[in-house]
Amino acid sequence: MKFKFDYVTPGREIIFGVGSLDRLSDVVERFHWQRLLLCASGSSRRSGRIESIEKMLGTRLVAIYGEVQAHVPDFQVDRVVALAEQSDIDAVIGLGGGSAVGMAKAVSFAFEEKTESKSPRVVLPTAQPRIPIIAIPTTYAGSEMTSVYGITHHENETARKITVQDPRIAPQVVLYDPLLTLDLPPDLTASTGINTLAHCVEAVYSITRNPLSTAAALEGINHIARTLPRCYARGDDLQARTEMLVGSYLAGTALANVATGLHHGLCHVLGGTLGISHGVANAIILPHAIRYNADACVHELALVAKRMGITDDDFDDVQLAAQAATQVSELIAEMNLPRHLREVGVKENDLTRVAELAAASRTVMNNPKPIDQDRLTVLLQAAW
Ligand code: NAD
Repeated sequence: MKFKFDYVTPGREIIFGVGSLDRLSDVVERFHWQRLLLCASGSSRRSGRIESIEKMLGTRLVAIYGEVQAHVPDFQVDRVVALAEQSDIDAVIGLGGGSAVGMAKAVSFAFEEKTESKSPRVVLPTAQPRIPIIAIPTTYAGSEMTSVYGITHHENETARKITVQDPRIAPQVVLYDPLLTLDLPPDLTASTGINTLAHCVEAVYSITRNPLSTAAALEGINHIARTLPRCYARGDDLQARTEMLVGSYLAGTALANVATGLHHGLCHVLGGTLGISHGVANAIILPHAIRYNADACVHELALVAKRMGITDDDFDDVQLAAQAATQVSELIAEMNLPRHLREVGVKENDLTRVAELAAASRTVMNNPKPIDQDRLTVLLQAAW
């Protein structure tokens, strides 16, 4: 265990529990928000959730953008920011998966950028934004807990996902309601569930881990490993959905305060540039990232294996670290997720470009075991 760390706690309120969406109106009242914008994706309209929020907030909901696309494309951000300005909003709601929450963050941050003076200034870690965010997650992606979002820029027919980090974009209020996850289909349950497991794994071996992130991540693994297969098999199991969302909250808590590594960096390139859904990219890459890091993070990955349920006392830490990859692979196979890049349309000749972009990624460079473009290519070939 490393005992040198920085830890920042942004001011925020977490409301967790079955039916907590019903408290949205009280929250808005309590903070005196009068003009809200709702960002959501198509599934929230289809499920009738946008309509319920319209009923709850009445005239205080002044604008709705209900078509957020995956990976937060820049052209959509421009449209939603314009809508937010025209509507003179004082808060923004992100309802849905990581993309809808990411869009809410992008809107909030655009207001900071517009009012910022030209000279660079240091933002206090506890600074509050001009346009606060209420995040209401409906997948297990975890963006609601962090002060980071990804935006995909399109230039010269090339798409590239860039991450923006600023303490002011950590949502001020997070409403976790397990009822909102009951309709998450098995494939999205599985893929976003593996995404949240990946947050825990990369938090446990992060070069900036701290005692709290490690505790949250290990406890998160416990919940996820126990309940994700149950949520996949029976989406309407409210008990399992609730425990899984606790796991997701713990994973987000861990993720919020650590630098991630190879796994997250590669998934951003695969999503932003090749359009692979984030959860699916996670399912394909995670076992490879664990295997790559196994010899450099033996103790940490041994802890991961134990929290995934390996109890065999005959294993030493090196064997346990190898078991972490095996356990994760088996869970992914059990849930019928894609396991190879070629299954999701990646061409072999895409791999060099992905490796090149990943090698330039700050996140990949934060991996606990150094990796260069050549070794990234080898890893990608194994994942292909
Ligand atoms: P997503 O938000 O793109 O949603 C995927 C699909 O799931 C969409 O079609 C959406 O409509 C649908 N969906 C969402 N909730 C549903 C529900 N309850 N029932 C049925 N369908 C539902 O995918 P995601 O995996 O949640 O998020 C991925 C995005 O979030 C990526 O852009 C990723 O980079 C980002 N992310 C950011 C962070 C962070 O810390 N900033 C963390 C994790 C992920």
